[in-house]
Amino acid sequence: APAIRTRGLRKTYRSFTLRQVVAVEGLDLEVPVGGVHAFLGPNGAGKTTTIRMLLGLVRPDAGTIQVLGHDLPGGLEAAVTRVGAVVEQPKFFPTFSGRRNLALLARGAGVDERRVDEVLEHVGLSERARDRFRTYSLGMKQRLAVAATLLKDPELVIFDEPTNGLDPAGIHDVRATMRSLAEQGRTVLVSSHVLAEVEQVADTVSIVVRGRLVADGRVADLVGSR
Ligand code: ADP
Ligand code: ADP
Repeated sequence: APAIRTRGLRKTYRSFTLRQVVAVEGLDLEVPVGGVHAFLGPNGAGKTTTIRMLLGLVRPDAGTIQVLGHDLPGGLEAAVTRVGAVVEQPKFFPTFSGRRNLALLARGAGVDERRVDEVLEHVGLSERARDRFRTYSLGMKQRLAVAATLLKDPELVIFDEPTNGLDPAGIHDVRATMRSLAEQGRTVLVSSHVLAEVEQVADTVSIVVRGRLVADGRVADLVGSR
């Protein structure tokens, strides 16, 4: 089974003026197991809404969702324990070190604290782990968010526009992190509105426009030369 499969997924919002806004329109999304899969589309295409439905945060109007072989919503609990999501900056304590912040999260999640050093190493933050969070660059903050997600050792890691607002060094760091997750055998789903970024980081891609899938397949075949 693929890591993610949706069929006929649909979500409509009602705007302030009570106009219907179709965010996701009959979306068939298929994310293979392993590698980095990009979810590419312009702003407003429905990427965030789709990701929120995959995470059980938004209820679809219609359609089916399978995540790691579990049907949602019934299998949500079984699925989400194996999924990590980097969808917004978590609230870290600015005056605590990165390591201390993660140790607190690990304790809260019932994760062995020895895992903290592993995940810091994994995202390339070991050397700065004992510095205060507020001294970190944006890219480092984003990598700490990834490290927090990795505490529970997820098989599937979902990123919603993770490089927004980052400088080139930060973008490079986050890209390296996504590649290394895939090299470890995890599945990465990353949304983006930047074609060049998809060409650099992804193996496969689904392209969404106005809530509909318009193409999917290998990046090399569809858009780039990777
Ligand atoms: P993307 O992530 O691709 O930029 P979104 O899923 O955020 O797309 O948005 C898809 C459409 O749904 C847009 O037209 C957006 O304005 C609308 N939308 C998203 N969230 C809401 C909401 N909570 N209420 C009303 N409209 C929304
Ligand atoms: P290059 O191969 O372009 O020389 P590196 O991958 O060696 O670059 O490292 C460049 C940047 O990526 C550095 O800022 C480093 O901290 C960061 N980095 C290194 N390893 C990882 C990793 N596993 N995850 C995230 N960032 C990393």
